[in-house]
Amino acid sequence: MIGKTQTATQKLYEIDSELYEFEARVIACEQTEQGGYAIELDRTAFFPEGGGQYADRGTLDGVDVHDVQIKDDRIWHYTATSFDVGMTVVGQLDAEERFVRMQNHSGEHILSGIAHAKWGLENVGFHLGDREMTMDFNGELTEEQLCELELAANRAVWANTAIYADYPDAKTLAALSYRSKLDLVDNVRIVTIEGVDACACCAPHVKRTGEIGLIKIVSAIHHKGGMRLWVLCGGWSLADYTSKHEDILTITRKQSVKPWQAVEAVDKLTDDLLATRAALSAARRELSEAKLTAAIPDEQGNLLFFEQEMDANVQRAMADRGADRVTDGICGVFCATDSGYRYVCVSRSKPLRALGKEMNAQLSGRGGGSDAMIQGTLGATKEQIESFFSQH
Ligand SMILES: [Zn+2]
Repeated sequence: MIGKTQTATQKLYEIDSELYEFEARVIACEQTEQGGYAIELDRTAFFPEGGGQYADRGTLDGVDVHDVQIKDDRIWHYTATSFDVGMTVVGQLDAEERFVRMQNHSGEHILSGIAHAKWGLENVGFHLGDREMTMDFNGELTEEQLCELELAANRAVWANTAIYADYPDAKTLAALSYRSKLDLVDNVRIVTIEGVDACACCAPHVKRTGEIGLIKIVSAIHHKGGMRLWVLCGGWSLADYTSKHEDILTITRKQSVKPWQAVEAVDKLTDDLLATRAALSAARRELSEAKLTAAIPDEQGNLLFFEQEMDANVQRAMADRGADRVTDGICGVFCATDSGYRYVCVSRSKPLRALGKEMNAQLSGRGGGSDAMIQGTLGATKEQIESFFSQH
């Protein structure tokens, strides 16, 4: 068989996509710039990176094949060890990885074929990585359309129809309606999913749609005037289900509720948290009121408060209320931070803008404000702050 790229290597992955072990003869072995070796075989079941899909991994005579690339119309298997030209080797693919990639790639064709047929959308981007697949459409889809697309794709899986690849002659190809990113006329490999899709593609696919398993659109965003979808099929969707199911069980066990009550339990937790925060805030306000009532101004007529934890709103309110108590002085509220204090100072009589600048300079501070109120942070201790205010 001849692919889009004619190579000296027979592409076994095009003849049988589920062939994971094969024998081949080494026809070239070249050292790479990185110090490894590039091996060319007379035939291979390893799919080289292409069309948005990563290369297969596996071994040649037990030696790791960490990458496979087509360069200058030659298929190269990259290894750490050299092989003698002429020798026969046994190639072994990481079958599980190859199969799950085929599940995902075939799933992608189904989704693209349906989106094309239903809404005239084109697939304009495709990436099949190690753990996820993304696909881009050149038009937007609503939530409802995404659900409709996902359901139709899974129905195509349940129908368990045949998937096959062939190279139609130029006349047949000209009469054929198929999806393609390129205007090719010769040696075009068409992957057909009966009743769903026909698309020019060089990659291996599963043999029947039933092998794909669940097709799940896990995420979708608006992207370049169209949509980008994250999709998981087969083994990847099962792994995703398992992991999410474990998360749900962990959450619901902690809350002592049934798995289907997770949302209810989290809603309750959120409500409880908001109520607790409101109660804490009210308690802090009450506490600050009590402190304001009990506090005695220092020799300069200033009132200074040092707090461990306080909302910025409560802090500002406390400084403001304190300023009413010391009409000739300053009320400063200092809330501890990792590196010092966050401050708010208010005064009804002393102009604070210049004082703030001096304080920032002396106490490694930042911030500012008006003559009536300044706020910011200080990189200083409580004693240093008290000492500064004993002179102002
Ligand atoms: Zn494809």
